[in-house]
Amino acid sequence: MQLLVATGNQGKLKEIRLLLAASGLEVVGLDSLSAVPQIEEDGATFAANALKKGETMARLSGCLTLADDSGLEVDALGGAPGVHSARYAGIQGDDDANNRKLLVALKGLPREHRRAAFVCAMALCPPDAPGQLFFGRLPGIILDEARGSGGFGYDPFFLVTEYGQTLAELPVETKNRISHRGQALRQALEVLQRM
Ligand code: IMP
Repeated sequence: MQLLVATGNQGKLKEIRLLLAASGLEVVGLDSLSAVPQIEEDGATFAANALKKGETMARLSGCLTLADDSGLEVDALGGAPGVHSARYAGIQGDDDANNRKLLVALKGLPREHRRAAFVCAMALCPPDAPGQLFFGRLPGIILDEARGSGGFGYDPFFLVTEYGQTLAELPVETKNRISHRGQALRQALEVLQRM
């Protein structure tokens, strides 16, 4: 069975491919399509954006499609950057600028006020039926300096307290086992395996 993974984010695609490696699914990325429309992520929630991306791409491609919308929610910032995580500093996907803005926003705050969580909504969408949603959440602490070189996005600043390491320090297999995306994807996989 073929599964289109509707993301242009190479970091996410790498993780999702690894998570699905043993599934027997033929995973294809957006680069397999001749034309990819720009889908505006203008929903108020991760779920709304994941469904919009997934259902649009499933309809256009005719393929069973998996779409993830995810981001970082920081308690002290009232849940920001939230659905705006990819463009927190203004430019879509500029991880360095996003991280700099986050550090400024949390400057001087002690550890107990630096609680955050990565959140993921994942939509599994057949071409001819409504999509189904799955969710994951990973709590952690935002550090004031980067640690590690793996992962992407906010990973070098996100400390997983029970491991004492950031998501950029942990091996990708460990990140996938505990992450917001890993949690959501494993639920989606259970449904996929019954299809
Ligand atoms: P999306 O592609 O619109 O879902 O944007 C997701 C954004 O949230 C990314 O660009 C990152 O800034 C952030 N993000 C989501 N998941 C992760 C993760 O696992 N690690 C680090 N940053 C993440």
